[in-house]
This record gives sequence, C-alpha cells and structure tokens, in this order.
Amino acid sequence: MSDETGTFGGYGGRHVPDALKAPLEQLTEAFEEIALSDEFQTEFRDRLAEYAGRPTPLYHAKRLSVEYGADIYLKREDLLHGGAHKLNNTLGQGLLAKKAGKDRLIAETGAGQHGTATAMVGAMLDLDTEIYMGEKDVKRQRMNVFRMRLMGAEVNEVTRGGEGLADAVDAALEDFAKNVEDTHYLVGSVVGPDPFPRMVRAFQSVIGDEAREQIRDRIGELPDAAVACVGGGSNAIGLFDAFREDDVAFYGAEGGGEGADSDRHAAPLADGEDGVLHGMKTRVIDDDTDVHSVSAGLDYPGVGPEHAMFQAVGRCDYRGITDEEALDAFKELSMLEGIIPALETSHGLALAKQIADDHDTILVNLSGRGDKDMETAAEQFDLT
Ligand SMILES: *Cc1c(COP(=O)(O)O)cnc(C)c1O
Repeated sequence: MSDETGTFGGYGGRHVPDALKAPLEQLTEAFEEIALSDEFQTEFRDRLAEYAGRPTPLYHAKRLSVEYGADIYLKREDLLHGGAHKLNNTLGQGLLAKKAGKDRLIAETGAGQHGTATAMVGAMLDLDTEIYMGEKDVKRQRMNVFRMRLMGAEVNEVTRGGEGLADAVDAALEDFAKNVEDTHYLVGSVVGPDPFPRMVRAFQSVIGDEAREQIRDRIGELPDAAVACVGGGSNAIGLFDAFREDDVAFYGAEGGGEGADSDRHAAPLADGEDGVLHGMKTRVIDDDTDVHSVSAGLDYPGVGPEHAMFQAVGRCDYRGITDEEALDAFKELSMLEGIIPALETSHGLALAKQIADDHDTILVNLSGRGDKDMETAAEQFDLT
C-alpha cells in the first residue's frame, strides 16, 4: 500500500495487527480488480434496481420548505428495500465477497439495521451470515433480531465491555482474524482500516450520483447546500461524493446527546480528538465519555477518516444536534409531509433547519425511515 492510498489527509490508513495485513491486502485487490470492473458495476446496478428499488425519488418537501424558510429537497433513501441506505453497501460487498470466493459473511450491528441489511444479501446470495450485536442492543432492538434470524442469519450477543456497537466491532474483528480464508467482514460504514472507507464510499456514492442528476433535471442547477447525518459517515459520504468539486456547502449532523453541557453525546468531529480506533486514524471520543444519542445508529465513538479530513480542511461543517432538536424535526416532518424519518435522519433535518437562513436550496439525505423508532416516539410524544 502506498502512503497515499487509503489515507485522507493523514487520517485513515491500516492500523491493524499483523494477522489482518494480508487479508486486507487481498480484499483491496479484489475491490480494485473485481468491484471496479464494468462487468461488476453493471450487475451491481441491475441488482440495485430490481432488488433494492433504485433509483430512489427526489422529493421537494413543500410544506417543510415553508416551515424552514428554504427550498428543501429530500433524497428518499428511506424508500430503499430495508428502509435505509444500508443495502447499497451490503449488496456491493456481498456481491464482491461472492465473486472473491468467500462463502461466509460476518458483520457488526448497533441498532440492527446493518445486520438486517447484511442478512438480506446473505439470504439472496446464499452466504452463511453471522451478526455480532451487543447484548444491550439485542434487548433494545428485538424486532431487528427477529428479522435477521428469520432471514437465516445467526445473531451473536456480545457481552463484553459496554455491550454496544464498539464491542460488537471488536468481536467481529477477532472472528475475521481467525477465519480470513472463507469469511468476508462486511463493515457497515465508511470506517475501519483501508480499503473499507473507500470501498463503502464507492458503493454508497450512487446516492449522490442520482441526486445530482435529479436536482439538475428539476431546477436546472445544483443545490446551495447538502446535508446528512453522520454516524460512521456512509450516507453522508454517499451524498457528498458527487458534489465534492462543486460550489455546494456540506453539513454533517452528529449526535449531540442531551445538550452542550452534558458529557453524554456522540460527536467525535464536534467534540473529539485525534486517535486510532478499529484500524483507522480518525477523530474519536475518549473512553471516559459515555457515547450516547437518542438514535442508536449515531452511537459510535469514532467516525470515517474522510470526514476527519473534510473537517480539518474546512470542506464540511459538522455540528452536534441534541436529542431534543432531533425529536422536534422527527415530529415536524411526520406532521407536515406524512413521512416518518429515522431518528438518525432527524438530526440532518434539524441541521437543515438551522442553516435555512443561509441557503436558498438545501438537499437533505433522508437516510432512513422511522418505523424502528416508534417506541421512542410513542414515549416522547405521548401517543399511547
Ligand atoms: C445506520 C444509519 C445511519 C448512520 O450510519 P452512517 O454510516 O453514518 O450513514 C444513519 N441513518 C440511518 C437511517 C441509519 O440506518
């Protein structure tokens, strides 16, 4: 690996034990030779169309636009099979694993959304699938555990550490190191050692490619700003990639937890520091902080290395959004447009509202739907 490959302005890289170096090199070759070939790309696009439901629509949210005071366009990844953008990535990596001769997929999952999207392609492509999930999350997200099992995946409860997403990643990495011959570790976001951040970006960039064409067809120009929520950062990179050379301002919404004065939050870009986590150099929240967001999908103590670079060079403005702000946006989109967004996504909507005075046209990635969050909503809004 050259010094440039797989790093983003000094972030990223491959900070892994020796046992993982050869398998990651193999994966890099498979990615570059197979996944970037025309033949693979054609099959990938076909499956995205007939299985996943692409292209997803671009929706001009007129009532929300009046409320926010700017024209808001929503890229409807909530309408993708599975209810979020995650399938773009799991389908890409699943196909690559199959073509590289692997017969087993493993994955980590927090809220269970990535595990579910992995179980879908495991079933469709006939690959054994094993999912690592923290015990705490298994209890919180029982419906997704049932979904994964119904589709034939084995769900392993991780009982170490805080029993959350970061612990599930550690367990999956250990499994991968032991079973590299037949196993592909299907990483769920633009995180981890090279080649994962650039590989996941390649599979998610379909979001921005489509949105760029769609908005030009609609209004004859590009939007003034593009907004997405940031957990690991895959839906955001997927949206931004197509606009990186354009005069389009980028905004990323992190989980700001219970507010500025609280030390419970999940905002490694807004509040973290440089460090190494899960094989990459990036921005991390240190161990003593209780990583927390009302949305499980933003509960990760690190972030994709390309976002760390975007922040360092000032390309993207990252802001922590509090639970309360996200919940307000969740309710607002539901009431005004009849679209229930995921709580993760609601952080992006809240940020779009904050910047509506500064931009006329704002493209927001509606990364997922909110069905999985209805119990939280019922408690918050007294719906029982
Ligand atoms: C998983 C998830 C996220 C966070 O993941 P990223 O890699 O940051 O995109 C955001 N929104 C939804 C709906 C999700 O399911």
